[in-house]
This record gives sequence, structure tokens and C-alpha cells, in this order.
Amino acid sequence: MKICVLGAGVIGLTTAWCLAEAGHDVIIVDRHASTAKGASAANGGQLSYAFVAPLASPATLKKLPSLLLSPDAPMRIRAGLDPALISWGARFLLACRPAAVRETVAAQLALAALSRSELARLTQNLMLSFGLRTAGKLVVFRSKREFDAARRAVMPTGEDGGQQVLTPTECLGLEPALRLDAGKLAGGIFTASEQVGDCAAFCAGLTFRLRRQRNVEWVLGTEVVGPVRSSGRLVAVDTGQGPVQADHFVLCMGAASGAFAKACGFYLPIYPLKGYSITLSPAPEARLLRHSVTDMERKLVFAPLVRDGHTPVRVAGIADLESDTQIDPRRVEILRRASAELLGIDTAGDVEPWCGLRPMTPDSRPIIGWSPLDGLFINSGHGMLGWTLACGSARLTADMIDRKRSVAPAGAFALCRAA
Ligand SMILES: Cc1cc2nc3c(=O)[nH]c(=O)nc-3n(C[C@H](O)[C@H](O)[C@H](O)COP(=O)(O)OP(=O)(O)OC[C@H]3O[C@@H](n4cnc5c(N)ncnc54)[C@H](O)[C@@H]3O)c2cc1C
Repeated sequence: MKICVLGAGVIGLTTAWCLAEAGHDVIIVDRHASTAKGASAANGGQLSYAFVAPLASPATLKKLPSLLLSPDAPMRIRAGLDPALISWGARFLLACRPAAVRETVAAQLALAALSRSELARLTQNLMLSFGLRTAGKLVVFRSKREFDAARRAVMPTGEDGGQQVLTPTECLGLEPALRLDAGKLAGGIFTASEQVGDCAAFCAGLTFRLRRQRNVEWVLGTEVVGPVRSSGRLVAVDTGQGPVQADHFVLCMGAASGAFAKACGFYLPIYPLKGYSITLSPAPEARLLRHSVTDMERKLVFAPLVRDGHTPVRVAGIADLESDTQIDPRRVEILRRASAELLGIDTAGDVEPWCGLRPMTPDSRPIIGWSPLDGLFINSGHGMLGWTLACGSARLTADMIDRKRSVAPAGAFALCRAA
């Protein structure tokens, strides 16, 4: 079959690989001249297989007023009374119910496990090099209430070491690069099996491999303008370079997926959640960050990457419900200040500020499945965990298109569960 993948971020590229591997002819279309220029360009680098907490939760709901009102808060709404945001917000509130959160966590953990094994398979088979390593992840909590809730959900020790609950002193002993006052921490949870890797380097390696596939064609630097239908079926997409035809289409346009769905005549609850990152080069004498760290209160992540023999630290976070991609220096300043405070790193020089739009669904679960428009499959809406969930989502997509049984619970990601 000829399958057109719309979007060449980490989701589109992994999808294209799985479809090409299954023997399909694949066409990849993207508005940028090169791949991974959207949210996949400089994300937090965490491969968070065990810690998949959705944004919608009773804890977020409780903190929402303070989160939204303080100028330094890690969340902000600047979209005004946009009808799409109102509809998304109503679904977000429903997704905060404890039963909905439990359902999301179970589905995400299954998809994350599939992603981990698929990423290992691709990395080995294609000899991809993107600094993948099992650095372990320490999540530190400042609020006792949040810490108590998180420790109740800790996974028992398994083959991979499971999760460990740590006191504040144990947190600082485990990660000496942290310059936090133990008295201000409630505790931490450490997962030894969690990984880190540079998503952009992974995408570059996968692009290189895809370019060598005879059954893969590229239409880059070309905007997808809208759908072309015939007898109620999607038969082509209109682009700046004319129509692109295929038997099936897979929607992987990240935060722009909702607009394309609207042009196709159905509602896709994906809203952009803008985040920021900076990339720091610690001084040679500084204590290197050994594990990836999440500061739960501030919703910030710190990941030790590997790039050209150096070990920069990627600091990422912030969740602004807005759709422009302008860098707001005040939001970057939050990351600079937190890096200086938590890691004692001098952030006066160039910190490579970046922002990207996470494709966010109300319940934080991606949407993977056939759309109401015949011929269009959706693999989008991966929100805060797109790098983590990419390879499993691509496997699930290829299996569903080929009508194979998959190990992930496909129904949990269907569009109708989010309608
Ligand atoms: C600050 C930040 C930190 C993050 N940290 C992590 C992390 O630590 N771990 C993790 O797992 N995830 C993380 N994420 C989330 C992850 O990066 C995203 O979920 C993931 O990159 C989404 O991939 P995507 O391919 O769906 O979207 P994108 O990478 O945005 O790709 C979509 C593609 O579609 C193309 N496109 C859009 N519209 C059109 C059009 N009309 N015509 C043609 N092409 C179009 C774009 O050019 C783009 O290339 C983070 C995200 C951000 C912003």
C-alpha cells in the first residue's frame, strides 16, 4: 500500500520507519526543509517509561488557581476565550477524576513498555547513536501531600530495580550535583531503569536511514494545506506543491493536527501546550549531573545528555496554553534561575533557548487509531511524553493499519474515548 505520513517530527519519522519496514511505500510530507523542527527539536530528553503521571489530575486541579495566577508559575493561559480551548478545558476537568487518571496511567505504562523495547530494537538494528543511556531518574518533591500521593503509587521492586522512595538526605546523597536544602524537600522517588537520550539526534539518525530506503519518498519544505476527498474518503492532501495521493494517510502533525482534523470535518482534542528548554555546558570543575532529575513542584526536568563527547545539561519545562512559537525571555529566565539554584551552573552565557508546542490531549494520552474520515489514521497528541512514547505508538499504528494484533491496548488510545 502507498501510505502518506503527514509530519516529520519524532512521531512521523518512527511511524514512517515501521510502515516502510512492513513493506509499504511511504511518502513523508513536512512544511520544514529538514526533519524534527517542531516539538521534537530540543525537548527534555527524558525517556520516562515508569513515571507517566498525566497533567490532568486531582493535584493539578487543586493547584490550578495558584498555578495560573502567579507570573512565575510553570503554567499560563494566554489564548483568551478560544472555543477550542473551552472545549479542551472542559474535557481536561473531566480527565482530572481519579478513575480517569488511573485508566490513563495503566494505558500509558503499557505503551511506554512497548516503546522501550521498540526503541532498543531500532537503536540496535539501525546502529543509531543519540546518547541513549540508562541514567536513572530522581523525582524530587517539595510538597508533602504530593510526595505522599506519589509514594503510594510506587511500583514494587522488579527485575529492573523498581522504584525507591528516598528521604531528602538520601536524594542529595544520590545526586551530589543538586544544591538543594534538604529541609525544603519532602522526599524523592528514584527509578534506576529510566533512560535519557537526545531526541533530535535520534531523529537525524532515523532520517539518514529512511533516506536510504527505496520505498520512502520525501516531500519536504511543503505545507499541507487541506484534505482532498472523493466519495467520502481521503484520497489526497493539497500541498504547496500540488496534491499528494496515497491509499492511506497518517496524521502526525503534532500541535497542528487539530487544524487539519477540523478541515477534514471532525474535532480532534489536541491543543498546543508551549514549553521551553535551555541547554547548559557546566564548567569543567562542576559536579556533573549523574541522573535525570524532575522537580515536581516547578514541573522542570534536568537531563544529562551526551553531545560530541561533551555532557551538556538539558533543562526543560513550562506549560503555556498558547500557540505562537515566539520565545518569551521571561519564561527562559525561569529556567536560568532554576538551573543556577538547583545545579549552581552559571547561566550568563548562551544557553540555547528554545520553545516548542506539545500536542496536548485533555487526558495526556495520545490519540492512535482510525479517524471518522475514511483513509485517515491518527497518531498524534503525545503531549509531554512524545519522545518516550514514539516508538511504541509507531508500532501500534503500523500493526493497526496492517490489522495485526498489538501488545498495547489499542482501545485506550482511540479517538472515541476522548470525544
Ligand atoms: C519543552 C518540552 C520538553 C519536553 N520534554 C520531553 C521529555 O523529556 N520526554 C518526552 O518523552 N517528551 C518530551 N516532550 C514532548 C515531545 O517533545 C513531544 O510530544 C513530541 O516531540 C511530539 O512529536 P510530534 O512528532 O507529534 O510533533 P512535532 O515534533 O511538532 O512534529 C510535527 C511535524 O508536523 C509538521 N507540520 C505541522 N503542520 C504542518 C503542515 N500544515 N504542513 C506540513 N507539515 C506540518 C511540523 O513541521 C513538524 O515537523 C517535551 C516537549 C517540550 C515542548
